[in-house]
Amino acid sequence: MQKVGFFRSIHVKFVLIYILLIVVAMQIIGLYFARELEETLKTNFTTSVKDRMNLVEFSVREEMMKDRSPDDPSLEQSLRTVLSGFNSEDINEIRVIDAKYKILATSELGNQSLVRQRSMEDSVRRSISSETFYENINFDQASGERVMVRVTPIMNNNMEVIGALYVTANIEKVFKQINDINQILAGGVAVSLAITVIIGIFIARTFTRPISDMRRQAQAMAQGNFSRKVHVYGDDEMGQLAIAFNHLTNQLQESQSTTESEQRKLASVLENMTDGVISTDRKGRVSLINDSALIMLRLTRDLVLNRPITSILGLEQEYTFEDLIQVKDSIALDFSTEKEPYILRATFSVTQRETGFVNGLIVVLHDNTEQEKIDMERREFVSNVSHELRTPLTTMRSYLDALAEGAWKNEDIAPSFLRVTQTETERMIRLVNDLLKLSRMDSKEYELNTEWVEFNHFFNSIIERFEFSKSQNVHFKRLLPSADLFVEIDTDKMTQVIDNIISNALKYSPDGGDVRFGVTTSGTYIKVMISDDGMGIPKANVNRIFDRFYRADRARSRAMGGTGLGLAIAKEMIIAHGGKIWAESEEGKGTTIFFTLPFEQQEEGEWD
Ligand code: ATP
Ligand code: MG
Repeated sequence: MQKVGFFRSIHVKFVLIYILLIVVAMQIIGLYFARELEETLKTNFTTSVKDRMNLVEFSVREEMMKDRSPDDPSLEQSLRTVLSGFNSEDINEIRVIDAKYKILATSELGNQSLVRQRSMEDSVRRSISSETFYENINFDQASGERVMVRVTPIMNNNMEVIGALYVTANIEKVFKQINDINQILAGGVAVSLAITVIIGIFIARTFTRPISDMRRQAQAMAQGNFSRKVHVYGDDEMGQLAIAFNHLTNQLQESQSTTESEQRKLASVLENMTDGVISTDRKGRVSLINDSALIMLRLTRDLVLNRPITSILGLEQEYTFEDLIQVKDSIALDFSTEKEPYILRATFSVTQRETGFVNGLIVVLHDNTEQEKIDMERREFVSNVSHELRTPLTTMRSYLDALAEGAWKNEDIAPSFLRVTQTETERMIRLVNDLLKLSRMDSKEYELNTEWVEFNHFFNSIIERFEFSKSQNVHFKRLLPSADLFVEIDTDKMTQVIDNIISNALKYSPDGGDVRFGVTTSGTYIKVMISDDGMGIPKANVNRIFDRFYRADRARSRAMGGTGLGLAIAKEMIIAHGGKIWAESEEGKGTTIFFTLPFEQQEEGEWD
């Protein structure tokens, strides 16, 4: 958060406003006060001068209107006496002037030379000619002080002007007094301003301190620190605000921690899901993806985030994001290669606001490869079974047709025709029995009837049975260890396994070939080997011989009566015993089938 500039802070603004208000108020009061004061003082001064002048005027008029006898002192003399009797500190000079502007007398001793001269004062002439008094404040150049000039016309009883009284009074004192008072006032204003500024700063602090506290708190909260509390300074509005703020902090902290824990839960749910989950924003760009989805799509997170979902799923050719929003069913994503099938199923759900505004899309990915494989195998199995049953049935029908059409009467053909139908029926019974065996093993109710047997002895008895009954010219070679090897097996099932492997070896062995039987032990298991010098199996198909119905050479195997289920059953049985089965073969040279069985090495001397 940005720091508030000094001059922008409420604190400074508050003090400035406070000062401005006081300054304006003081200014108005001061102005009004100064004006009133000046007016009053000036009026007082003028009135006092006027009052005294009235007195002088009365005496002067008396003297001027008096009929004089030769004994009487002259007018000038009498006037001088009148004026000299008048003595006042603030009156500078009083002159008496007659109607012809001649100066008759002056109170100023230094100006006696002016007596009998014409008055040059403009004010005097104006006052006499207009018969009214004249008053003005002049600036005296000589003393540099302000002087009030007052000219009063002197009237006789017939209201005719007989002269004038010219007075100059020193008014400078009045102005000095006004100045002094103004200075006192200004000083008072300055002192009170200083005091109010200091008080203002303190008052402003009581407002701004809680505000700054809350500001700091808000900054801390923005950084995730909810431990701070705002100090509550009082019970006023600010205090209430601070309490509300602290309450808000608590609420925020609670909701923040709830949100965080919900997020953690959601994240752990997403991460522990085996299904892949991808969410997008409203433009269809990936905003979240869990690890399962990354593994399924074989991508890394930084490659995926913010990229369009359509390109991540490889659907950009067929679909736009808007299409995906409309998709009701799931879509199969086929990432299969020639070597391995890989099919994902994507289910889409739209996240919407209540207003219907689309917020984004959630895609759930499920690895469907196994399901697809099972489906495919099932289809293949059904078609194989149908095919395997149809062939003998068609053969039988044609022979039976021939018999029905009269061949039964022919003693030469009829028995051989019947033998064929018998063989085919047997083959079908075998096939159905094999299928039943497999189906029983597929369902989980399948159980082994195990017992402890010595494997060499058990294996040898089976080999001997084949040795006695064999019709081919094939040599059996045993590579069996002398030590006893006790294993826990279901002897019936194991006999079927070994029977099938040996009969295969015999089936594909050439005349005069060898069939080798071997058993070796290794820590936790025994390894059994049955090897022949037969035709072998093409390399690419070696591992397919354990698939149901697989036959390397269909025509030949069928001719030998095989169903192609023998090794598939053997594989299921060996797995049920906890072992493994595999083949190694070279075309034209021979085939070796290996299988293992779990085995526990007996402590030496345990059987002694
Ligand atoms: P079934 O055993 O049901 O009578 P089958 O022998 O044809 O029929 P499997 O035992 O499952 O079926 O064998 C599958 C295929 O594997 C055979 O058809 C054959 O092509 C091939 N095969 C098995 N063992 C050998 C072998 N020793 N040498 C060459 N090919 C073999
Ligand atoms: Mg077989």
